[in-house]
Amino acid sequence: MRILVISDIHANLAALEAVLADAKGDWDKIWFLGDLIGYGPDPNECVALLREHDPIALSGNHDWAILGKLDIQHFNQDARNAVLWAQRVINADSRAYLDSLPPISAEGPFTLAHASPRHPVWEYILDRGTAAVNFAFFESPFCLVGHTHVPILYAEASAEHVEVHPPVYNAPLILSDDLRCIINPGSVGQPRDSDPRASYALLNLVNMTWEYRRVEYDVARTQMRMRRHGLSERLVARLEYGW
Ligand code: ZN
Repeated sequence: MRILVISDIHANLAALEAVLADAKGDWDKIWFLGDLIGYGPDPNECVALLREHDPIALSGNHDWAILGKLDIQHFNQDARNAVLWAQRVINADSRAYLDSLPPISAEGPFTLAHASPRHPVWEYILDRGTAAVNFAFFESPFCLVGHTHVPILYAEASAEHVEVHPPVYNAPLILSDDLRCIINPGSVGQPRDSDPRASYALLNLVNMTWEYRRVEYDVARTQMRMRRHGLSERLVARLEYGW
């Protein structure tokens, strides 16, 4: 079984289409780690396209915000406005689908969480210390997370030491049961690691390999649609820089 692991699509249809085209034929099932909408211009289209592939899917903090399950007062102004816009345009079908998704689940030796196993909707695992604490909050060998929009792998080398491994692309990495890991595939629709290309990963459950991938997409097409809907210029511009 080969898994296409994607996260943080954020209503960016051009990016999602590019990932699906790039990975074509290389996977049997999608695992999606949450934040299907928010920020981008195509919420309903992204929900519909993802659903066509019958994924294992989680909800993220932006999905919760749009459903009214999360207070948006802690969102910054741009993110808040994007949530309010998406609340206006989202259709009943999309809303019902998002509402059906959990923020955390388990698939064999993998725990899947949108943000972190400790706080599945909220916590940002952006450093070794936060990763280290989180290893106590899941029992499986591996945990997959999104939320930070940065591809990275944290490995629990010992109780005191967590290794940080930045991504190496197109080079399958062997996952071993005796080295517990928290892994982030990066973001499809709004990368934040200074690389504007859509980020995703391929997980092979037979060989137990993890492969990071990046693919260029038509950023201008997404930006044009964001401007048309009056979404913030700062959100439009950041797609170009991967931030
Ligand atoms: Zn996100």
